[in-house]
Amino acid sequence: MIKENLHKIKTELPAGVELVAVSKFNSIERIAEAYAAGQRHFGESRVQEFMTKIEVLPADINWHFIGHLQTNKIRQVVGKVALIESVDTEKLLALISKEAEKQGIRQDVLLQIHVAFEETKFGFTPAELHTLINTSPWVKYPGIRLRGIMGMASNTDNEQRITADFKAIRQTFDDILSHHSQYLPDFNIVSMGMSGDWKIALSCGTTSVRIGSAIFGSRMYANH
Ligand SMILES: *Cc1c(COP(=O)(O)O)cnc(C)c1O
Repeated sequence: MIKENLHKIKTELPAGVELVAVSKFNSIERIAEAYAAGQRHFGESRVQEFMTKIEVLPADINWHFIGHLQTNKIRQVVGKVALIESVDTEKLLALISKEAEKQGIRQDVLLQIHVAFEETKFGFTPAELHTLINTSPWVKYPGIRLRGIMGMASNTDNEQRITADFKAIRQTFDDILSHHSQYLPDFNIVSMGMSGDWKIALSCGTTSVRIGSAIFGSRMYANH
């Protein structure tokens, strides 16, 4: 089933839109199955779980960290994931940069944005994001490479609401780029769209979708 689900989604994704298979709460075996079907980008949201998986799964997997990252767990993630998608405070950005500098690398990150009516409390508002960008974080935090932004739409069936949220996320990305592109040569990722809304995200200009249950089936949340 995993292979079929992946194939079906991939045939519907335009070229250039990345598929991140969100493998949180799913077993090593199921991830290996997706890997065997050619999938190379996987998303995890818990540090402990990620650490168990990275030890046993193939080294050429591009891991995306998509969950709330506590500052005391930064060391376990920096340098091990291709992309930290969920940078939700400037403090976290600063600490990631510091750890990356210590390791002699640059860590690719996305800034998490939260738009109106979204339920999560994590992320910058568009206004906060502009404020941060206006302080030239690329100068202050040389250990990070800003790759773009990540966001979620409101958890609702209202397609107009979802569309408005995704448009707001895309607009914020475009605004940042239009003012600062000379300092942000690698700022090219808009990560939005999950199992229930990725087709709407496509129509609003996503470049990277994060899909879990539509690939792996529903997760057993009761265990967590
Ligand atoms: C769990 C999760 C997803 C995937 O959700 P599905 O609805 O299973 O596709 C995407 N993004 C984030 C940030 C998540 O935590």
